[in-house]
Amino acid sequence: MIIYNTLTRKKEEFVPNEPGKVKMYTCGPTVYHFAHIGNLRSYICEDVLEKLLRFSGYDVKRVMNITDVGHLSSDADTGEDKMLSGAKREHKTVMEIAKFYTDAFFADFAKLNIKMPDVVEPATNCIPEFIHMIEVLLEKGYAYKAGENIYFDTSKLDKYYVFGNMNEEDLQVGVRDDVTEDTNKRNKNDFVLWFTKSKFEDQALKWDSPWGVGYPGWHIECSCISMKHLGEYMDIHCGGIDNMFPHHTNEIAQSEAFIGHKWCNYWFHVHHLNDETGKMSKSKGEFLTVSLLEEKGYDPLAYRFFTLQSHYRKPLTFSYDALNQAADTYKKLKDRALRIPAEGDVDQAAVKEWHDKFAETVGNDVNTAMGITLLYDVLKAELNGNTKRAVIADYDTVLGLKLLEETAAAAADNGEDVAEIEALIAERTAAKKAKDFAKADEIRGKLLEMGIVLEDTREGVKWKRAE
Ligand SMILES: [Zn+2]
Repeated sequence: MIIYNTLTRKKEEFVPNEPGKVKMYTCGPTVYHFAHIGNLRSYICEDVLEKLLRFSGYDVKRVMNITDVGHLSSDADTGEDKMLSGAKREHKTVMEIAKFYTDAFFADFAKLNIKMPDVVEPATNCIPEFIHMIEVLLEKGYAYKAGENIYFDTSKLDKYYVFGNMNEEDLQVGVRDDVTEDTNKRNKNDFVLWFTKSKFEDQALKWDSPWGVGYPGWHIECSCISMKHLGEYMDIHCGGIDNMFPHHTNEIAQSEAFIGHKWCNYWFHVHHLNDETGKMSKSKGEFLTVSLLEEKGYDPLAYRFFTLQSHYRKPLTFSYDALNQAADTYKKLKDRALRIPAEGDVDQAAVKEWHDKFAETVGNDVNTAMGITLLYDVLKAELNGNTKRAVIADYDTVLGLKLLEETAAAAADNGEDVAEIEALIAERTAAKKAKDFAKADEIRGKLLEMGIVLEDTREGVKWKRAE
């Protein structure tokens, strides 16, 4: 497999630390509100990456955190506490908010056919691990105490910003101007590992620590949770592109300072979903969620299909026109797949050949659009029905479009007459058994008029719609 690695800014052959095994980590959601479809674009692309690794024969262990503790919109003692503002908005406790929105997040996963990670760990489960890592960072001289908080000292690293050659002084460009600088910091890019003193006097979740009662900074959770489940060597870390800085930069800084060697070899970043006015966000315009799309009559898998038509490293622009087009194409594609007659012996050699073609094409930096093109090639190929079905089922383990799964919507639409067809076939079978061949032929003729072609096989009668 070939993957674009943000760390080297190159496409590279993917080689895991241990042959055949992949340790994969995904930054999870902050559970203070519903996920918008822009966030979910990242999770769909990461899901395809995971499934593609499995398709290519790897044994994958994937870990995800759930950010259910405070202070997230910035590193310093600035910004808003999203969990707390969510709780206030809904008159609930922070933990009630976390539970509710964690469930909602994974309900969206199910609707979008995203596989659950092997391990899902809420940050609040791992406070002792956070404290341990911070203690080690203090011992090693990578952290300091100031203003009753513990900070990571970025000046102790040879290179702090690893995703390119950007001048470190320029990194803060883009940070909101109304944010006041934290004067406890020794260096501009230093970040909080543990808060005991913050502007959030009423912080709901607090824990005892060697530095006083408080709570962890944001970045520490991903370093600790990944190491807890994947050890000190990770193969691939995923997230949205806006997490590259500061979040992933800080994860690398503290993780490598802690373990004393390189931590993760490949970084996979998914680009933004934009609306027609720019980057999609929760605070701007219509709040686009999976539930909202469903209310408007869209199959969530049509949204999945929409995202797969483009490449994960390109920004994608959402509009209802574009979604309508994708939904229409998806429906037609699925109808065609469902109509493939279940006939003939599966040609295993052909299935293998098509499998390898997909692994190579889509395996070139997760080229999902080419995967969809290949689906059309299979539909057109000179293969018997059951072989086509086997190839499509194989591809769908990666694309996750449920192409061969008869859903209520598809059935209602394309097979109101299925019951009638089945009844006529049963009647014909009975007639044949009673050796009433004239009647059997008559029924076959009637079905033909309806556009239904019958095939007598050893397993019984199969039928398909005439092309
Ligand atoms: Zn993270």
